[in-house]
Amino acid sequence: MTDVPPQDKIEYEHASVLIVGAGPVGLFLALKSAQKGIDVIVIDSEPHVLKSPRATTYMPIVLNEMEKVGLVDDLVMAGHTNREGISFRKPNAKGGEVLGALMMAAIPKGAVKYDFAGIHLGQQAVGELILKHCEAQKSFRVMWQHRFVGLKQPGETKPIEIVAAGPTGEKFFTCDYLVGADGAGSSVRRALCIPFEGFTWNDFRFVASNVRYDFEKYGFTTANMIVDEEDWAVIARTGSGDDPWRVAFGMRTDIPMSDLMEHVKEKYERLLPGPRPLEYELVSANPYWAHQRVARTWKVGRVVLAGDAAHSNNPIGGLGLTTGFLDAAALGNCLIRILTLSEKPDTLLSRYESVRRAAWVNYTDKASTDFKLRLHSIDPKIVAAREGFFKALNDDPEIHHKTATMMNEQVEDMFEIPSSV
Ligand SMILES: Cc1cc2nc3c(=O)[nH]c(=O)nc-3n(C[C@H](O)[C@H](O)[C@H](O)COP(=O)(O)OP(=O)(O)OC[C@H]3O[C@@H](n4cnc5c(N)ncnc54)[C@H](O)[C@@H]3O)c2cc1C
Repeated sequence: MTDVPPQDKIEYEHASVLIVGAGPVGLFLALKSAQKGIDVIVIDSEPHVLKSPRATTYMPIVLNEMEKVGLVDDLVMAGHTNREGISFRKPNAKGGEVLGALMMAAIPKGAVKYDFAGIHLGQQAVGELILKHCEAQKSFRVMWQHRFVGLKQPGETKPIEIVAAGPTGEKFFTCDYLVGADGAGSSVRRALCIPFEGFTWNDFRFVASNVRYDFEKYGFTTANMIVDEEDWAVIARTGSGDDPWRVAFGMRTDIPMSDLMEHVKEKYERLLPGPRPLEYELVSANPYWAHQRVARTWKVGRVVLAGDAAHSNNPIGGLGLTTGFLDAAALGNCLIRILTLSEKPDTLLSRYESVRRAAWVNYTDKASTDFKLRLHSIDPKIVAAREGFFKALNDDPEIHHKTATMMNEQVEDMFEIPSSV
């Protein structure tokens, strides 16, 4: 009889806010909340911050939010500040001519707060940096290798229950607010049966490769957009000094995935400047499907979505994580107001949903689609607009100032927390 082990006792771990996903958005939200003493648990299915090559560039618009949580100096120190601008060129195989360039040097001194085009730093390094700041907060806990699998939300007053699959079996949590920051394939969004509306681009897959190659020697600046119907690409620094460069390009969807590495070599032959045979060190190459999708609702009761879990766009122009950081900043302010000032949760979270969803629908979706088509479309209207844009870059000194102002523009902060909190 004594050989039968005792029945498991189910224990629940509680946090005011439980965040699913230790990506940059989940961690940024955790940092903002934990700095105000809110107890936060972040769970992630992976054993560490994701390492796949994704975002490299963060626009000035997010730096104000980084400043508020004390991240901006570390970010600037770890990354490479793009003081040059953005060049638009033909692919090397077609002569590599510069068609136009956004030049930060053309902006009058003091005209904008951040007089650069962006900070370049790999997403993994940014995630690790935010995590380091989180770990300095007493009310922060992270649990790696805990995959969210389900939730129960029993009415307005009782805690939300969550189950995760951990390394030693199921782990149960309770929380007052649950945030799904678990990326475009969000299990939280799916558990709530929320449709991810929009479409997936079926003309090209994106390939994000990291490579060590001396682009500067051949006149490349920090950020370069290659304009061509077939060989369009983005070539940009992923950080400072010896950090690799990102070469991201489109791979036609009829090319089988088994030919990926061969295709990378062929693309490099057409894209990279310099003498042949080319000598480079390929660090990694990952294919991605790109989407323009948004969750139909971002809030169900006290469960809320943020970042890629709520929206996903193609990466040209670097708007995905930029938008996600701004979601996390707004949602962080709402949760702080609810949990420390006892403000009405339903009103604030509904406002978060409507303001941030509209920001993605009206700006990010449209701008990222325009950025992509500007690089490769042969539609006569888009070609005319592209030529007009390059002409303005070359002839109109005002456009540099206007663009820098737009990249700095502060989102109206309807959720700002009083300085006394
Ligand atoms: C090639 C490429 C280049 C890009 N370049 C830029 C750029 O330059 N600038 C920019 O702003 N954006 C860029 N983006 C977009 C950017 O990468 C995303 O917007 C960003 O990753 C979103 O962050 P997130 O924290 O919302 O989600 P993610 O980074 O996807 O993080 C989600 C986290 O959730 C975890 N998770 C998933 N499922 C579960 C589960 N069931 N349980 C627990 N944990 C789970 C994952 O392990 C992961 O850690 C790029 C994207 C790609 C693909």
